[in-house]
Amino acid sequence: MRTKSRLGIMGGTFDPIHFGHLVAAEEALVQFNLDKVIFMPTGHPARKTEQQVTSAEQRYLMTVIATSSNPDFEVSRMEVDRPGLTYTVDTMVELREQYGPHAELYFITGADAVFEIATWKESERFEGLCRFIAVTRPGYDLEAAVSENAQALSRLDIDFIEVPALAISSTDLRARVAERRPIRYLVPEPVAAYIQKYRLYSEGY
Ligand code: NAP
Repeated sequence: MRTKSRLGIMGGTFDPIHFGHLVAAEEALVQFNLDKVIFMPTGHPARKTEQQVTSAEQRYLMTVIATSSNPDFEVSRMEVDRPGLTYTVDTMVELREQYGPHAELYFITGADAVFEIATWKESERFEGLCRFIAVTRPGYDLEAAVSENAQALSRLDIDFIEVPALAISSTDLRARVAERRPIRYLVPEPVAAYIQKYRLYSEGY
């Protein structure tokens, strides 16, 4: 019987969450034999202070709505509730304390973000703390990206998965709403209804 827990932590701004994120999380769950995936909406993204980002509470709520029917998915308020800018290293240290030394932690996020890890706060602490699953979109030149970043990533444990559904992107979804183009079938229906109800993305994008 397996006693270690294997946890996926799906980190992202989720502005908004879409089917690409959900498919990627399900794919990671199955491919890496994870016990569950915890969605971790970024509270106050360290790199996006200048950009317009929807409130953490609204991004958190959309993530809850989108994942509610999947018993293997959870959503954490950890980053949303932590004061100050959000740093992934603080989250992984807190999760390590919560789940104990034997838990296997897999941080799942977009490949572009993973390639910047070397520039993240205290990135040297990730070694031995968690592993990474970097998710790519179709057409992504993984080979070139890996060779360009080889040195920076050499001390990290990273796996890559391509997720065709990630042809959907949050940037495109925000533009679609602003331009009154449809988002149906790109996000779960209750998320589309939430966006409409609170008039997200309709002004200033
Ligand atoms: P981003 O720069 O907005 O996104 C980079 C690319 O990755 C986009 O194409 C994005 O597509 C995709 N992506 C983001 N999250 C994804 C996910 N969970 N699954 C699949 N694709 C994903 O990245 P971000 O959302 O700000 O940051 C990603 C994660 O890295 C977050 O958890 C963030 O807190 C963390 N991070 C930490 C630091 C730090 O500790 N210093 C710095 C930067 C980022 P979509 O737009 O469609 O999602």
